[in-house]
Amino acid sequence: MAFEHDYTSKQAIDDIEGVIAQARTFSSQYNRSVIKNMTMEQYCIGHGDHDNFCYKIERELERMGNITGMSRQKKFGVWYDKKLGKYQHTKKFGNSLEDAWINAKNEILKLLEAGEKRNYAIIEKSNFSQLFRYKLLAIYYPDIYISIYSDNHLRWFCDQLGIRYESSEKAYELQRKLIQYKEQHEDTRDMSLVMYVKWLYGEHDGPPKTEWAGSNVDAHKELEKQLREMEKEIEDHAKKRPDGNDSRLVEEWKIARWDLVSAYVKKRAGGICQLCGMPAPFNNKKDEPYLECHHIIWMRRGGDDKPDNAVALCPNCHKKMHILDREDDVAYLKKQVTKK
Ligand SMILES: [Zn+2]
Ligand SMILES: [Zn+2]
Repeated sequence: MAFEHDYTSKQAIDDIEGVIAQARTFSSQYNRSVIKNMTMEQYCIGHGDHDNFCYKIERELERMGNITGMSRQKKFGVWYDKKLGKYQHTKKFGNSLEDAWINAKNEILKLLEAGEKRNYAIIEKSNFSQLFRYKLLAIYYPDIYISIYSDNHLRWFCDQLGIRYESSEKAYELQRKLIQYKEQHEDTRDMSLVMYVKWLYGEHDGPPKTEWAGSNVDAHKELEKQLREMEKEIEDHAKKRPDGNDSRLVEEWKIARWDLVSAYVKKRAGGICQLCGMPAPFNNKKDEPYLECHHIIWMRRGGDDKPDNAVALCPNCHKKMHILDREDDVAYLKKQVTKK
């Protein structure tokens, strides 16, 4: 589950000129007339070789941003499934494989044209995922688009630089605002956009990884949905508290509540310890990241058994919370659960 952000490694773009040159080589190799005549085989990832459009976008041009943490269906529209030994397509692009392929290809051409003309409406309407769409644009037009693709990351940098934006503003607008900032400041004015991205990540890092699913918009939505469902379960369970003095029933009810809350909290943490920010040290037998659930305000000090009083911690940090019980750690964890 590698939901990684746009730039996984800062060192990877030390060679700014090299990154730009690589993008230019790609975009001339796959210019629009080449794309027009491209075959499915030349486009699709999955055959196992590296000589195809999608592989190059995803892997070879990794220094232009990492978009690997997302299913191929959503990303490429058409791809080759080696296990099944045949091409697959997503219905979003058409019912038959042939239709889907023609549509996907046309959409790439349309997108590149719109990108050049800065036709925002067409760019936003494309059926391709935001990450794939903006990565294509940044590769073909490295002087117009920056290689930061997710709303999460774009907003993060706007926040860091004090740039105001509306929650309705999309990637296109956020990119424009960040570029405008660059133009208006002496420190950054003369930088290429690729350099600017390096500068941004160097100065401000990326958003904290606890913001689950990072750049993966679809996965993020899916996660949000699952979390809402789990919240509902917790609420429903709260209504079922047994009255009367059967302490055994109450005890069982509490245990069930804790199971629900801790499943929720772990899901929310996305495999990352909420104190040290590191990935879980190992996976459990179900191959899920192993984290432990902890009450920020301990129950015996009156803390609630609710999601906003619970965090997922790696075993080390969990131990640390119980041994040191530091106020600043408690305050930090509280912030982690209130942060939206
Ligand atoms: Zn930790
Ligand atoms: Zn604990």
